[in-house]
Amino acid sequence: MPDRRDYYEILEVSREVSTAGLKSAYRRLALQYHPDRHPNDPEAAEKFKEASEAYAVLSDPEKRQRYDRFGHGGVGGAAGGGFGGFDPSVFGDFSDLLGDLFGFSGARERRPAGSDLVYRMEITLKDAAFGIDAPVAISRLEACPACHGSGAEAGSSPVTCPTCRGRGRQRLSQGFLVVTRPCPECGGDGKIIEKPCPECRGEGRHRESRKLDIRIPAGVETGSRLRLTGEGDAGPPGGTAGDLYVVLTVAPHDVFERAGDDVVLPLSLPFPTLVLGGEISVPTLEGEPEKVSIPAGTAAGSEIRIKGRGMGRLGRNRRGDLVIRAGVAVPEKPSPREKELLREYAAEIGAPIGGKSVLDKAKKIFQ
Ligand SMILES: [Zn+2]
Ligand SMILES: [Zn+2]
Repeated sequence: MPDRRDYYEILEVSREVSTAGLKSAYRRLALQYHPDRHPNDPEAAEKFKEASEAYAVLSDPEKRQRYDRFGHGGVGGAAGGGFGGFDPSVFGDFSDLLGDLFGFSGARERRPAGSDLVYRMEITLKDAAFGIDAPVAISRLEACPACHGSGAEAGSSPVTCPTCRGRGRQRLSQGFLVVTRPCPECGGDGKIIEKPCPECRGEGRHRESRKLDIRIPAGVETGSRLRLTGEGDAGPPGGTAGDLYVVLTVAPHDVFERAGDDVVLPLSLPFPTLVLGGEISVPTLEGEPEKVSIPAGTAAGSEIRIKGRGMGRLGRNRRGDLVIRAGVAVPEKPSPREKELLREYAAEIGAPIGGKSVLDKAKKIFQ
């Protein structure tokens, strides 16, 4: 979830904007991004939602005051709830605001949609670094080929519901309140099927196994969600398809650790290499070993960066870095010769060695 944008910034207005200014700013954005003008454009839909949420909050004097003082946390939906976090009564305003512009009333129908599907997928760190085209095998509802999704037998077609005359809703008066509810005859579709398709029994869809090739972009991480618009279940007759969400897990790597855009390689180096410097060969995400110079006097725990050899970044060309974190390699079973040299070196610098180090050292010194 990216950081939430400032409401004033979204509406492109100053913090001192008047109610009228707010309304005209929102009207302009709503006209620009309204879903009716951009069918199947998730980016426009997102912009429309964003602007609507911002307007819903700022047009309410009390909420605006709280937002000015406490930010997003002050107006609900603090945990990134987004559009779900605000009062849906704002929809009452949409028709006021947009009705004259778009010619639809507040009672406009929502088309029935197919279900969204979720596909969980594990990828390697390397695939997350560079991106990959991956096959995804799913089972979903697709439009019935016999009736092309209409649900009506070939040669016939659904007819307008006589009860609601195609509106899909019934208006009921209860005192001074007028409420609408889905038409019981057609279930809100506005159409009824007189001769159901024998293949799908009027459902208009059937289950199908499908293989999709999806592009996983470089830079994704565990929890990243890719949305494939319209690749979920087909909708019921007259409806739209749901979306497919691919939820990613990046498997831990044997050698590399991820740190945001960087990849860390913990590497134990021989003490003399750290002291005197030297050239070593390190593994990389690409698989090709890379030669790296360890500068003389490298302390344990210091980091050596190889620029641009880390993880890809979402939506950007530049990559993070490969970071070599230097440690000291301690030989588990030193040979007698190694021990001899180490003792000599220890004596040279006065390093305490052995269990009775102080005594040993003292003996050696006075020999
Ligand atoms: Zn059918
Ligand atoms: Zn009806």
